[in-house]
Amino acid sequence: MRRAIYPGSFDPVTDGHLDVIERARKLFDEVIVAVAHNDEKQPFFSLEERLDLLRETAGKIDSVRIAQFKGLLVDFARAEKAGAVIRGLRAVSDFEFEFQMALMNRKLDAAVETIFLMPKEEYTYLSSRIVKEIASLGGDVSSFVPACVAKALNRKFTR
Ligand code: ADP
Repeated sequence: MRRAIYPGSFDPVTDGHLDVIERARKLFDEVIVAVAHNDEKQPFFSLEERLDLLRETAGKIDSVRIAQFKGLLVDFARAEKAGAVIRGLRAVSDFEFEFQMALMNRKLDAAVETIFLMPKEEYTYLSSRIVKEIASLGGDVSSFVPACVAKALNRKFTR
């Protein structure tokens, strides 16, 4: 069983994340989309909201499981018997941070391999942060996120 973990904040999940998940699924028997609990980051959507939005979208894809984790990613990977970590690479701006993370994770556990996947070009400029910014200004985000996410954003911003 080839299993991979796709970790992230998913605050909220976008079409870019879903594109990466679809690509990863072709390479692995199971993909675990894992939402990180991070006490330092103050998320816009609560952990439960982020998990629910993932369950409604990525969770509907075959062989994709939604999970959450706290602590070191390599520990979670070991517990789940996953041999790979998936990360999405958009532009040069992602590279430095991702490179550092990948090499640090390798130091922590050499058995866990990081695999970078590039999304479809039109998603290379897409991030959860920019989607929240557009939605906060009343812009239409429906071509960047699944319908349930657009709805959740509208609900938050029209309160
Ligand atoms: P994190 O807080 O870990 O960066 P994100 O939810 O922002 O969490 O992203 C999780 C992963 O998905 C990261 O590897 C990020 O580079 C990647 N990612 C985010 N948006 C996109 C996108 N539009 N296309 C490809 N990869 C993406």
